[in-house]
Amino acid sequence: DMPPCDFKPDKHQGPDLKSVLATRKSNLNPALFTFYKEPVYIHQGHMQYLWDVSGKRYVDLFAGIVTVSVGHCHPTVVAAAGKQMKKLWHTTNIYLHPKIHEYAEQLAAKLPGNLKVVVYLTNSGSEANDLAVLMARMYTGVFDCISLRNGYHGASPYLMGVTALSTWRYNSPTGFGFQNAMNPDPYRGPWGGKHCRDSPAQPQRPCDCAKGQCVACDNYVDQVEDVLRYSMPKGRVGAFIAEAIQGVGGSVQLPDGYLKKVYEKIRAAGGLCIADEVQTGFGRMGSHYWGFETQGVVPDIVTMAKGIGNGFPMGAVVTTPEIAQTMGKALHFNTFGGNPVASAVGLAVLEVIEKEKTQALCAAVGTYFIKELDKLRSEFEVVGDVRGKGLMIGLELVKDKATRAPLPADEVASIWEDTKNMGVLIGKGGLYGNCLRIKPPMCITKEDVDYSMAVIRVALQNHASKK
Ligand code: PMP
Repeated sequence: DMPPCDFKPDKHQGPDLKSVLATRKSNLNPALFTFYKEPVYIHQGHMQYLWDVSGKRYVDLFAGIVTVSVGHCHPTVVAAAGKQMKKLWHTTNIYLHPKIHEYAEQLAAKLPGNLKVVVYLTNSGSEANDLAVLMARMYTGVFDCISLRNGYHGASPYLMGVTALSTWRYNSPTGFGFQNAMNPDPYRGPWGGKHCRDSPAQPQRPCDCAKGQCVACDNYVDQVEDVLRYSMPKGRVGAFIAEAIQGVGGSVQLPDGYLKKVYEKIRAAGGLCIADEVQTGFGRMGSHYWGFETQGVVPDIVTMAKGIGNGFPMGAVVTTPEIAQTMGKALHFNTFGGNPVASAVGLAVLEVIEKEKTQALCAAVGTYFIKELDKLRSEFEVVGDVRGKGLMIGLELVKDKATRAPLPADEVASIWEDTKNMGVLIGKGGLYGNCLRIKPPMCITKEDVDYSMAVIRVALQNHASKK
């Protein structure tokens, strides 16, 4: 059974899902109907749980989309938002208000090196990445940039060139000055399997990449070098952007030491290194507060969103005073960025992570979760890979282990649908849509993990029995 929960959701007053689907479907974005067979009609949330309008409870293993960092409607965050709403809920960036500079100061204090002074507040991860790329281009004077295939950085037409996942690209130029280098995918890459990874999934393949002894990792680094050599005019690059674990791409974990070597090459070519921490930041990696720290690097620009506000729409760009100076007094801000309520929410999230030792909890429960999921690899032919760090976990479903061919979409969907029916919401992703993404609010408990594991096991057994 699902672990007990004292919280009692309100009773939903209004039409049920059936009548909404019968009468309102035509007014709604059709994409809302392409996920589960029927949309999950969510009514209320509390910490790691959600309730639909019928009163059914779910364990939220996807945290919105990796957004709810410390728990749905966390009381501390709700209180901070409410207090600020009563005082002042909008000013625009033209004016300063106490919460903005308090927040900028406390956020900057969370970052290493010289990433201390300037914080630009935005409304989303896409806006943050837009701004980061603009900053790098203005600073270096170079337009051409590099991102990694399978990376996701936003869905504006401009960012479709940075995001190198064909699933997310539509009628727009694919480049916008970005070339996409091959990503180092330990499971699917051409040198897969021969290089180190700290996921317990494949401990039989140790190699000390961080000390420069990983041949496969070096091969992937060479791929970036190739793009520098062949595609960057005069070998100069404006920026390189990457996530430490490729989130939307299916929780693909970069090999240890990879970013260190790539950053060296990018900097030698005059470029700035941007860390996209939209999913990996704020303790989700467990062992570290930021994803880039797991790679032992300090970027020049860091972008954030999602977990920064526990689901409240906000984002940020943090950089060094020197880089920020290039922007100078350039008029670049937006109407809603730095909203006082968002700033108060951001402060409350930082406070909760600190007070509740969220990062340590995430490390402990994440390690346990990955260990349990890893057992599925020997139990089920379709569980090809289990990977991740902290609560940034991926499970890749395949037809069979030998070929690693992705499990067909309809079979993935039936497993996914089954888990939902049993009260567990999981994310999906990867180029082939065959990766289950497990990134719950970090307040999840061992008991929730045990329940989720039982559900995932039943769904996989159901799938196997249909064969
Ligand atoms: N970067 C990463 C790593 C993301 O996962 C996302 C969103 N999935 C974005 C950027 C874009 O953020 P937003 O949807 O808030 O624009």
